[in-house]
Amino acid sequence: MNLKKSLFFTFISFCYALGAVAQTQDNKYQFSIDLTTYQEQADRLAVELICPVLSTPEAVYRVPKIVPGTYKKYDFGRFVKDFQAFDKQNKALTVTRLDSNSWKISPANKLYKITYKVDDTFDAPLQQNYVFQPAGSDFEKDVFLLNTHAFLGYFDGLKKAIYRLHVRKPKAFYGATALEPISHNDFADLYESNSYMNITDAPLLYCRPDTASLALHGSKILVSVYSQNTDQPYAPVILKELETVLLSIEKFLGGELPVRKYAFLVYLSASLPVNGMQGALEHSQSSLYYLVDGGNPKALAREIRDVGAHEFFHIVTPLTLHSEEIADFDYNTPKMSKHLWLYEGVTEYNSLYVQLVSRLISQKDFFNTMKLKMSMSEQLFEDSLSFTQLSKNVLDEYADQYSNVYEKGALMAWCLDLQIRHYTQGQMGLQRVISELAKKYGASKPFRDDDLIPEIVALTHPSVGDFFRKYVEGGSPLPFTESLAFAGYDFQKDVKKKEPSLGKISLEYKGNREVVVSYIGNMNDFGRSMGWQVGDVLVELQGKPVNTDNIETLLTEYRNNTKDGQAVKVKVARVDNKGQKKTVALKAKAQLQESTERYRITPMLKPTPAQLKVREAWFKGL
Ligand SMILES: [Zn+2]
Repeated sequence: MNLKKSLFFTFISFCYALGAVAQTQDNKYQFSIDLTTYQEQADRLAVELICPVLSTPEAVYRVPKIVPGTYKKYDFGRFVKDFQAFDKQNKALTVTRLDSNSWKISPANKLYKITYKVDDTFDAPLQQNYVFQPAGSDFEKDVFLLNTHAFLGYFDGLKKAIYRLHVRKPKAFYGATALEPISHNDFADLYESNSYMNITDAPLLYCRPDTASLALHGSKILVSVYSQNTDQPYAPVILKELETVLLSIEKFLGGELPVRKYAFLVYLSASLPVNGMQGALEHSQSSLYYLVDGGNPKALAREIRDVGAHEFFHIVTPLTLHSEEIADFDYNTPKMSKHLWLYEGVTEYNSLYVQLVSRLISQKDFFNTMKLKMSMSEQLFEDSLSFTQLSKNVLDEYADQYSNVYEKGALMAWCLDLQIRHYTQGQMGLQRVISELAKKYGASKPFRDDDLIPEIVALTHPSVGDFFRKYVEGGSPLPFTESLAFAGYDFQKDVKKKEPSLGKISLEYKGNREVVVSYIGNMNDFGRSMGWQVGDVLVELQGKPVNTDNIETLLTEYRNNTKDGQAVKVKVARVDNKGQKKTVALKAKAQLQESTERYRITPMLKPTPAQLKVREAWFKGL
């Protein structure tokens, strides 16, 4: 379904546009930006603020050093240029820059208007603390990605006030955001929010519309896409994938989505970005995605489904269930909570677990993803670091360990889920505990950082407290063997096995679904007997047609079912020296090679009734 605004609203906003010429000063922040006067060469946006009436002789205006969900100091003030303050007669007032993000203005009781220009973050030099794109801004002729924290500020002590944002736009552009405009017409949108926290909780994406929307049991879901590559519509394909995972999440969370409106804003880059990063940032009613457009809408939609599940789960933690540090977020002298294991680890775990429970992914897919996290965590991060310490000091001392919240953090949540299920004899699971806590606390009722773990222990079992002491607060390696055994699974490390390979060749998966031999430099005896050549396109493996969709399954079958000495038959398409493409049959006798499986998870052959009970409850998401 396409999203169109109604005639009724167009009419109202026309009245507004006429009435908006003289802006009177009151107790509101009234911001205006004009996308139609943007000049590509200067690459800046002019911001005008009609200030709320202030009564103090001095006032400090700030833009954020850091914003929620990023766990990194970005100093958005460095993108602000030509900062000026004026009284009603347009006479300049004294402005003193206090630091990168703050300006002192006097006399503040005369202050009427502030003007400045902002640079976008996308085009900033890479080596200077580059802003993760989902938290940044991009101004181009055909797109404006506006994270409001990157250009709106606040006066000290005055974050809880009405914020208005007036955006003039080219007629062809649509502004996608979770904010509901209080009026709009073809050339402008006017938004209003009741605090700095809320207006900066809603990024905006202005471009030619590629949108799709849907009502999901009373919740309105919007997808809006900008692609650097193409004008082909992506939004409907992405929405379709998201719908499957949102239905699963709805069921998982007890039959209702926790929002009435939610916007997925997607910015697709034509190539791998300068900082090599892609990802998304969560908000209460939207999430913003920055991803590389590989030209395959279906593959991209799958990726957005996975990331989208993660971002959507953030509505539960930390956007609903959070500590005081997050509730009263300090944009310039932030205090960190101890519980990133909850905000990011549990979110990441749940985004995968919900897909297992609803069978969007198989148990094998789930285990493989968790094994990959074990490997990443082990290779890239300090395993002995306390997770509560990491969390508390993530902005400085342990900044380089941050990404482990997605790896070990998710594994920690998995172990915790199984521990809770075991010690409560299958009565509780991690999600049940979280929903109990979310009922007790909530978006406007934060918990005290020190109270969280004792509360979880009180809801579950004293032994769960031992888990927290040892593995979350302490830095012990996670107890996979014990936790998985609770659900009747054997966990083993470094299992020696013998299996066939294709001869140590490298394969490349092409966009046209072809699987191509890309490198033969490490080929073994078997590979040489087969006679692989670089550029060979796999047509058949053991009599079965090959493409990028089924190759992984075929290779698994091949590894599991091939005996030593058995004939291995492959057909490839090969270009001969006359430039003709021909099908060539390759054949050799399989040679099993010894290899090591780093992590192995297998169901126990004779689980106890208690183990079966936990396994069933976990597998079904009860
Ligand atoms: Zn996250």
